[in-house]
Amino acid sequence: MDISLIVPVYNEAEVLYAFFERLNGVFSSSEELKDLEYEVICVDDGSTDSTPSILEDLLSRDSRIKLISFSRNFGKEAAMFAGLKFASGKCAVPIDADLQDPPELIAEFVKKWREGFDMVYGVRVERSGDSPAKRKTAELFYKIYNSLSERPIPRNTGDFRLIDRRVIDAILKLHERSIFMKGIFNWVGFKSVGVPYDRPERVSGGSKWNYWKLWNFALDGITASSTIPLRIWTYIGGAIASITGIYALYIALRTIVCGVDVPGYASLFVSILFFGSVQLIALGIFGEYLGRIVAEVKGRPLYVIEKISSNLAEPKE
Ligand code: UDP
Ligand code: MG
Repeated sequence: MDISLIVPVYNEAEVLYAFFERLNGVFSSSEELKDLEYEVICVDDGSTDSTPSILEDLLSRDSRIKLISFSRNFGKEAAMFAGLKFASGKCAVPIDADLQDPPELIAEFVKKWREGFDMVYGVRVERSGDSPAKRKTAELFYKIYNSLSERPIPRNTGDFRLIDRRVIDAILKLHERSIFMKGIFNWVGFKSVGVPYDRPERVSGGSKWNYWKLWNFALDGITASSTIPLRIWTYIGGAIASITGIYALYIALRTIVCGVDVPGYASLFVSILFFGSVQLIALGIFGEYLGRIVAEVKGRPLYVIEKISSNLAEPKE
């Protein structure tokens, strides 16, 4: 097998046929891809619409299409991880089913791969498919993530990329529970290159993300890649303590020179609230990490598989 496409699918009934039609078109017409042997591993992430029956139908018509069905919705990250585990290709390409990742780009990925790159990632030049608010918050996330993490992620990259077998094997050796694929792709290293593309709008249906999900996803990403939010409190505490020391000295001197000063209710109240909140924020951040430690210690699997299609072999452990 040359190339394994990994398609996480969650309630995509409206787009699946169009997706496979376009994908097959690309593989049969592109010079770069024509001779490649490929498989398409669909991971049904607990869809509740007619996605499963559509997938069965596609499967019965094309033996290159394979299917892993989860017992419920576990999220895109888990779906991609499962796909990578079952992939038998010399390289893999995670690709969204909603046609926001243009399949035509795979040809360019493969070209770069043949030139010797282990990872070729798509860079979204034009994100007109996303709302301005989503673009702004995404930008803010990258800014914060990159200033905290030891390995900054290239801006405007998604999961759409080609990764060589060496990278897949490196990723599969990781045992963490809270996976943030973009961070992991980047963490493993290897020779990488970006290919620019325009990210179109979803052909149909809606994004599976809402802001609350995205916020938690961002927290997962940051806590998985950095411990700086845990450690800054020493310095914040130190800084506040020094300022308090100077202020205390000032009050003492002023009392000696000008006598006792009784008013101060407002400033007292404000500072109590201020330090109370600072402490609660610190505790909250500890909680974010602690919760994830609990998840890691429990060591539950990332996903539960209900069934796999008969043309898919169990991966070697
Ligand atoms: N997806 C998934 N599980 C989920 C949410 C999404 O497998 O819980 C899949 C979805 O079917 C699609 C891809 O992940 O193929 C990207 O999802 P979406 O288009 O909603 O994300 P966006 O493009 O808005 O980032
Ligand atoms: Mg999408």
